Amino acid sequence: MTSIRTEALILRSVDFGESDRILHLLVPEIGRLPVIAKGARRSVRRFSGTLDLFNHVKIQVDLRRPTVLARLDQASLIDPFIAMRSETARFGLGCYLLELFDRLAPERGVRADTQRLFSFALGALRMVSERAPDLRLRTLIELRALDALGLRPEFSRCVRCGSTPAGRSPVGFHVADGGVVCDRCCARLDGIPRVQRGTLRALEQGLCLDLERLDRLVMDGPLLEEARQLLGRFQRFHLGVELRSRSFLDRVLRSPAPG
Ligand SMILES: [Zn+2]
Repeated sequence: MTSIRTEALILRSVDFGESDRILHLLVPEIGRLPVIAKGARRSVRRFSGTLDLFNHVKIQVDLRRPTVLARLDQASLIDPFIAMRSETARFGLGCYLLELFDRLAPERGVRADTQRLFSFALGALRMVSERAPDLRLRTLIELRALDALGLRPEFSRCVRCGSTPAGRSPVGFHVADGGVVCDRCCARLDGIPRVQRGTLRALEQGLCLDLERLDRLVMDGPLLEEARQLLGRFQRFHLGVELRSRSFLDRVLRSPAPG
């Protein structure tokens, strides 16, 4: 691979040296791609207004020297997602998504996976910029982001034996194994917390609905609170990193106090 023309989303942008800038891009064919934009801060014309966070851009990148950073040769703006910068909840959720992709997107991953991740990233930013995000939408988008990154929780079948837990009583959820555990398997384990069926059903629907229809899903009160706690535990275990943008997001789209 020598030079590619493609699209990208700007996840991170850091000044480098006297005139350059290092960017972390999300690219459909590759996944996460760090690049250097030479002279980006000296020449106003060359990359004018294209290298800001959230920007969806068309790019040309030189990948000829695999041992050094790829070089960004051209960039032009497709969509700046301008609304992301206009409201704190939107901005907080957007920054959280960018950091999540920056930390967890694969570098040179399987193409089908990276393409799916890229189209999720664009869809999620579009959705957040068109709506006033609330705690419910935040929860559902976080869930879908985990799924897009290959960390899909299992809400229907027991992750130990594959059976579908019967009855209506709360079901065990094994965070490390990534999903629900039936009563029989639960009996062999210690201290598995249980989750209401309605919460599991809502989260399962949240995984299956088209992204554009996600905000039709009703989730509030104790159900939303339980979903947040479950997702919080799942993220703490599976992400393996504490995201810096999380505390800001928690301030602007906070979980309600348990009642
Ligand atoms: Zn089981």
